[in-house]
Amino acid sequence: MRKKIVAGNWKCNTTVQEGVELAKAVTELVDKSGVKDVVVVLGTPFTHITSVVSAVDTNLIDVAAQNCATEAKGAFTGEVSAAMVKSTGATHVILGHSERREYYGETSEILNKKVALALANGLSPIYCCGEALAIREANEQNAYVKTQLEETIFNLSAEDFAKLSIAYEPIWAIGTGVTASTAQAQEMLAFIRSLIAAKFGKAVAEETSILYGGSCNAKNAPELFSQPDIDGGLIGGASLKAEDFLGIITAY
Ligand code: 13P
Repeated sequence: MRKKIVAGNWKCNTTVQEGVELAKAVTELVDKSGVKDVVVVLGTPFTHITSVVSAVDTNLIDVAAQNCATEAKGAFTGEVSAAMVKSTGATHVILGHSERREYYGETSEILNKKVALALANGLSPIYCCGEALAIREANEQNAYVKTQLEETIFNLSAEDFAKLSIAYEPIWAIGTGVTASTAQAQEMLAFIRSLIAAKFGKAVAEETSILYGGSCNAKNAPELFSQPDIDGGLIGGASLKAEDFLGIITAY
């Protein structure tokens, strides 16, 4: 059975102290809720990871970075390598988020390097894909997402591919309050799963966790998560308040 995953992406929010408090509050609520079958991930800024890993019960909560370097190590001022991320106790890394593609020029070539280093260092990538509004309006979203996958993670071996999860986040739904309709989300995730099946086989496709992201909250999560191909969510705004985030974690 593939994993259900609810991952928070805190983006560039919270101080270390605020992040630790938030992480502790999430741990406590998850513990009390008794939820056991959902992988809960906190995607924190680099500066927070070590403190957050120490603050949470790692039996209940996994911690992710939101990025890693394209290079393994060396003279790359300001960069944080996958090995460094791994050494904090983080288990996951969010890669290919549309904000990094758009504001920091992350291309497929760059993402290939990051994914390879993340995997080589034992991190599980949460690989993001998704189209802008103009592409959706032209009804070209399937071809666009297919290319994003083909240029990056579809180059992996089946063994490596099995270590990652995918988050479909339509850019027009991120932070806008506009969620993709349940039907739109399910349709795209089923399409992504069919692409995985064609490339790596049905068994791999059935085991790959595919998440939806974009204005997901405790209210819309139950319907989204009831769909056969939606295995969880990548959550921005609603992951910044422990109660809101718990509402999503318990939405299955
Ligand atoms: P929101 O949940 O704030 O729309 O953000 C989604 C997102 O970008 C998560 O990576």
